[in-house]
Amino acid sequence: MAIGLFKVDPLDEVDEASESPEFEELVRRQLELLGEDPRREGLDRTPARVAKALRFLTQGYNTSAEEVVGKGVFKEEHDNMIMVRNIELYSLCEHHMLPFFGKAHVAYIPNGKIVGLSKIPRIVDVYARRLQVQERLTEQIAEGLCRVLHPSGVGVVIEAYHLCMMMRGVEKQNSKTITSALRGAFREDPKTRDEFLRLAHSTNGLHQY
Ligand code: ZN
Repeated sequence: MAIGLFKVDPLDEVDEASESPEFEELVRRQLELLGEDPRREGLDRTPARVAKALRFLTQGYNTSAEEVVGKGVFKEEHDNMIMVRNIELYSLCEHHMLPFFGKAHVAYIPNGKIVGLSKIPRIVDVYARRLQVQERLTEQIAEGLCRVLHPSGVGVVIEAYHLCMMMRGVEKQNSKTITSALRGAFREDPKTRDEFLRLAHSTNGLHQY
């Protein structure tokens, strides 16, 4: 489907019947307050697209770490650190509703149970797809993993760029915010903590923003 010269992404296709008329009315009003004409061709379907995009970007409110992990937990006597690095992360800051994005590094030491590795990025998304502050997001990922696995320890590091700082020129364009949350052995055992932080911060040239 093409509108004018621009192809519309299938993700942006909106049903004829509006799913949230009240929300769309708010976006229409917002466009007016910004001095725009919400009836012009390019903006005509924008309220519906914004409503749909925001529903997608905040769908973490409707789910939980328990739900996304489901039956993906297995008995296993492995007791070394398991780490998933460079998990792509996109979230919205709750102060400006602008994106922050970057990478999460998540590690745990099992205590009789492991989780399918593909589930860890899904746990990250459960909490990233909400209005967030980076500090709370980091803690919630650690907490979620603790609840589903009861591991001996959990470590989470997030490195992210905040568009509310970058686009508004509040901070240097390249300043990255780094947060960490440590539980169990990652907090109590300096060797474990050091190993985790070293792995989390060692760059391998991949996925660099
Ligand atoms: Zn912000």
